[in-house]
Amino acid sequence: MMFGPGIDADEVWTEVASSRRADTDWRAGRTFSLVYHHGDEALEELQHRVAIEFLHDNALNPAAFPSLKRFEREVTDTTAALLHGKPRTGAMTAGGTDSIFHAVATSRDAARADGRVAGNLLVPHTAHPAFAKAAHYLGVEERRAPVGPDLRADLEAMERLVDDETFLLVGSAPCYPYGVIDDIEAIAALAAHHGTLCHVDACLGGWLLPWWEQLGHDVKPFDFRVDGVTSISADLHKYGWMFKGASTVTYRDRDLLRHQFFAFDDWPGGIYGSPGAAGTRPGAQIAGAWATIQHLGDEGFLRLADEVWRADDAYASGIAAVDGLQITGNPEFSTFEFAPDGSRPVDVGGLHAEMSERGWHIDQQQGGLHLIVFPRHLDVVDEFLADLRQSVESGRVTGASDGSYGGV
Ligand SMILES: *Cc1c(COP(=O)(O)O)cnc(C)c1O
Repeated sequence: MMFGPGIDADEVWTEVASSRRADTDWRAGRTFSLVYHHGDEALEELQHRVAIEFLHDNALNPAAFPSLKRFEREVTDTTAALLHGKPRTGAMTAGGTDSIFHAVATSRDAARADGRVAGNLLVPHTAHPAFAKAAHYLGVEERRAPVGPDLRADLEAMERLVDDETFLLVGSAPCYPYGVIDDIEAIAALAAHHGTLCHVDACLGGWLLPWWEQLGHDVKPFDFRVDGVTSISADLHKYGWMFKGASTVTYRDRDLLRHQFFAFDDWPGGIYGSPGAAGTRPGAQIAGAWATIQHLGDEGFLRLADEVWRADDAYASGIAAVDGLQITGNPEFSTFEFAPDGSRPVDVGGLHAEMSERGWHIDQQQGGLHLIVFPRHLDVVDEFLADLRQSVESGRVTGASDGSYGGV
């Protein structure tokens, strides 16, 4: 026998639950990436109910599930409206990487339909690895341009790397490592000048920056109001407060989106069509995104966006005040890196280890530690800062001890 005898459902469940003991406890507010915890209990309960209701449904054939067809249309139209685009120009995908993959494939195909070679895309060094991944799978070249001292895309460097085969220029709003927003107007203008398409990676910012703008904060232009921007990725499962597996890709017009559609009939199984790479598609994410948007409404999104703003402010200013640490660059988003300021020895790996031992799940990057801030983090900011102040004084961080980490 391959699997052994089947096990009673209750017993399997007990093991599933106990297997999770070592998983990060994101509800405690000590995890700074991966799960964007909104802390809204009514929303969480609604999401669970909708997910269970649609768990088995399949958006592959919208005729069989008119509800999903309607939900997806409304989610993509709402996203387009939020980004100042047009109705019927977007699609839902399984995540940011998936949205970027489709934007790259669609832009390549649109450029080729236009008679171009479409051999390379050009991104800033800070762009998400999803662009390199898409280029890898799609057989095109990805070029990374260095960023300037402000950590934004260096337009002169980009200009030097564009050539006749470039089909897409990319900017991030914001980039993941530092939370700075590239000069989208300049990148889009450069793209228009060279006759290429221009994608804005707003996987992080797409569902948060519009609300910050409405709250009266200064938000640099990044959406379809910027001439020359031809597509935008915006994740629902980040600051759109959705559970995992939901993102959007939106195009300037429907003709561009059409390059993403696929139809096929050269097999005996009937006419087969899909809006993207996936065949069978889960219904829970589509219905869940719709329900999330309905439930939160303007008021809910504004409230959560304001909480993120305040949490970000508390963390960034608190960390900047810790002796020996600084925030890298000038982030314009609730995602940032903090690093040694050079005034005294601070070992980043040691600091990461100290904070981990105090129960904080923080990502380490090449130059420092990385935070993505959610509303839930407001509740624990004092504890975090106290632990951070203690951690920077520890021997393995200052170099006063032999520097051995966590049992190594
Ligand atoms: C998260 C992220 C992505 C990739 O999204 P996934 O949902 O992890 O696939 C792309 N770009 C940026 C800026 C991101 O933050």
